Amino acid sequence: MDDDIVQSHMKVWKRCLDGYSKVQEYAEYSKEVNQKYLVITDHGTMAAVPQLLSESEKHNLTPVIGCEMYVNELQPESKTKLDTAKFRANLSPEEDARFGKNNHLLALAYNDVGYSNLVYLTSWAWKHGFYKKPRINHKVLYERREGIIFTSTCANSEIANAFFAGGDEAGFAMVEKYMAMFGENFYLELMMLDFKLQKPYDAFLLRAHAKYNIPLILSQDCHYCKKEHSRYQRLMLMQQTKRTIKELEALAASGESDLFELQDQNLWMKSEEELNLKWESDYSQIIDYELYKQAKANTVKICEKAANVKIDRNIKLPKLENEDLVLWEEIQKGKIKRRLPNTDEYEKRIKEEYELIKEKGFSSYFLIQKMMIDEARNKSPEILGFGDGSEAVGPGRGSFVGSLVAYCLRLHDVEPVKHGLLFSRFLSPARGGKQMKTRFTIDPIGEENGK
Ligand SMILES: [Zn+2]
Repeated sequence: MDDDIVQSHMKVWKRCLDGYSKVQEYAEYSKEVNQKYLVITDHGTMAAVPQLLSESEKHNLTPVIGCEMYVNELQPESKTKLDTAKFRANLSPEEDARFGKNNHLLALAYNDVGYSNLVYLTSWAWKHGFYKKPRINHKVLYERREGIIFTSTCANSEIANAFFAGGDEAGFAMVEKYMAMFGENFYLELMMLDFKLQKPYDAFLLRAHAKYNIPLILSQDCHYCKKEHSRYQRLMLMQQTKRTIKELEALAASGESDLFELQDQNLWMKSEEELNLKWESDYSQIIDYELYKQAKANTVKICEKAANVKIDRNIKLPKLENEDLVLWEEIQKGKIKRRLPNTDEYEKRIKEEYELIKEKGFSSYFLIQKMMIDEARNKSPEILGFGDGSEAVGPGRGSFVGSLVAYCLRLHDVEPVKHGLLFSRFLSPARGGKQMKTRFTIDPIGEENGK
């Protein structure tokens, strides 16, 4: 167990520019540093999950699915920016200052319910809790806590912020709140960073451990794979903060910066030896050896537990009754309506496309698209007050217009044979189909919102 430490709290380069390395690089480097588990907890998004699963499979690693969410107790469920603004107007100055904080919260799914709850929570945050960042509140967190492990997280968590603002008493009060919300799924997360707030925060967490006996874990905040990547992380920081490297270095030298990455260049994926060295050189005064060992062992335990998430990755499409037959009939009707030439070329093309669509199990998909597009066309004149319905969906675009079957069904209005467009660009025996992207508009001339 001692040789098996896990790096959690890992950031991957997504659009948030928060971590430099890619999932594939983490997976490859995991082998070099003897990692069995690959844990990815991007900030506010689970967009890296598909890559995490496929790369873990490729490299024989156990994936652990998580997210470092943003949480704010005061965040209301808002539908629009205006809702949030109205809510803020009624806050006291003290509350308003608290409302401004995007506190971090690390969450790891440990079963299928936990996974869908995590998906729910991150979606909720983008849809109903967006204030500078996608945020959740305690109410939704409590409702959707099942199957998820939560930790005290980094020095920018609610617990840490309570502790730094109000000392042990305020910190313990927030710990108690988390204990009441998450019960035995709540862990105290130690980290060994250079960031100046980490040591006092770890020391506080150890006092909380002594007081409440909440289990400890140890994580390593990874923003990139290798030590030398720290430089690239800085380049990303330049982009993010719109500062030059000189300005960033001056900030780092002044010691005043609150930019986390400037205070910490210790964010690479470490081997067991490197972690032990870090503990010996920097943290042995803070974390007692026995507790250090315990925290490492617990980290492996929660990852073993999290390995129970089994995601069914098969494509799920609704199935209509007699889908193949109905599709064939619709094509025949469409052929007449479209007045297609009665030649071998057209017959052969339709037959080939139809057989492949059938074989790939896409008949229902085509028919459902037809229902949606027909409905949009029918409703459009009524909604717009003009036109023949074509305004709602346009003539169609992308590789999809290479399908003669789709033309017969009036999913698009481009005749592919006449224009020399290939069906194989859209769907071929060797690869899965590309998506039909359907967009409906209720404002085809762009009067509203510049759309
Ligand atoms: Zn954090």
